[in-house]
Amino acid sequence: MLVDGHGRHVNYLRISVTERCNFRCQYCMPEKPFSWVPKENLLTFEELFMFVKVAIDEGVNKIRITGGEPLLRENLDTFIKTISDYRPNIDLALTTNGYLLPQTAKRLKDAGLKRLNISLDSLKSDVAAKIAGKDVLAQVLEGINEAIKTGLNVKINMVPLKNINENEINDILDFCIKRQIKVRFIEYMENTHADSSLSGMHGREILTKIKEKHIIKALGREGASPSFNYRLENGYEFGLIDPHKHDFCENCNRIRLTAEGFLIPCLYFDEALSIADAVKAGNISKATEILTEVLRNKPKENRWSEDELADREISKRAFYQTGG
Ligand code: SAM
Ligand code: SF4
Repeated sequence: MLVDGHGRHVNYLRISVTERCNFRCQYCMPEKPFSWVPKENLLTFEELFMFVKVAIDEGVNKIRITGGEPLLRENLDTFIKTISDYRPNIDLALTTNGYLLPQTAKRLKDAGLKRLNISLDSLKSDVAAKIAGKDVLAQVLEGINEAIKTGLNVKINMVPLKNINENEINDILDFCIKRQIKVRFIEYMENTHADSSLSGMHGREILTKIKEKHIIKALGREGASPSFNYRLENGYEFGLIDPHKHDFCENCNRIRLTAEGFLIPCLYFDEALSIADAVKAGNISKATEILTEVLRNKPKENRWSEDELADREISKRAFYQTGG
């Protein structure tokens, strides 16, 4: 069992398989970075899998593949199948912008993927294009339909932004109620890579919008999930991911691995240790040692908290590198 320096049980690994992306979301990567990490610096799937095995053998039972846009990386389905074959009952999930799902959803399901989170910030073509930097909506909607059709467990992620898509919170909710898929509203997390003119919506502002149309009941956090769940009068449940709330980090159960092999203990902070040399050398005990050290130094909490508002530094972490 993996336990961090604050006694939290860590069983969840998020792997960013690429920092590259086919969207330019304003809150994540509004401009193409000056340079991408050279391809030769990326860990191969064989090297990533060597670490995945270490993590699973130490107690990780939930893995999410993310990015950048993970579906841009070739042979992703083979990587998924390798993990699934190694531990068939692992909770194996992927987060995507959905653009490439029309042609990949079935292959991902056949490879052993169980759950899919798809980002959908607007149901209006022009607003979706403004957020993503290109005309994406029709293809993303097709991708969502395709994913639902395959029987994958689909969830939708929306990041509400003031004066951009704040009036679509209830539309996205209706879209998800109609399809009986869960939506999670994510508070915008300020970071130095995002468009500096953006203003995110606080969780309570998101809830106020929903209360204009619904009666809602707070259910609480679902285990170590970052999502605080609510139920509507019609029984439908949605989630709110609210990293600005002070209790958000209390049960944090996750660590992140980047495509270059950096093991990151917290989404907010810059600290990271590389497992690249260890896995390239096939040195499993060294990789395990690094994992243990990263967990020992995992911060107690992020600094997006409201208590930090007065003198808050903006996080320098790029979401497209750490995978959100
Ligand atoms: N490209 C995929 C996608 O967009 O779903 C996966 C990577 S993306 C970094 C993962 C999640 O992080 C997405 O749901 C995205 O909306 C969210 N995200 C990115 N930047 C964010 C920010 N600054 N604040 C809150 N959520 C953010
Ligand atoms: Fe790409 Fe996802 Fe970041 Fe948007 S949020 S730029 S889709 S990685």
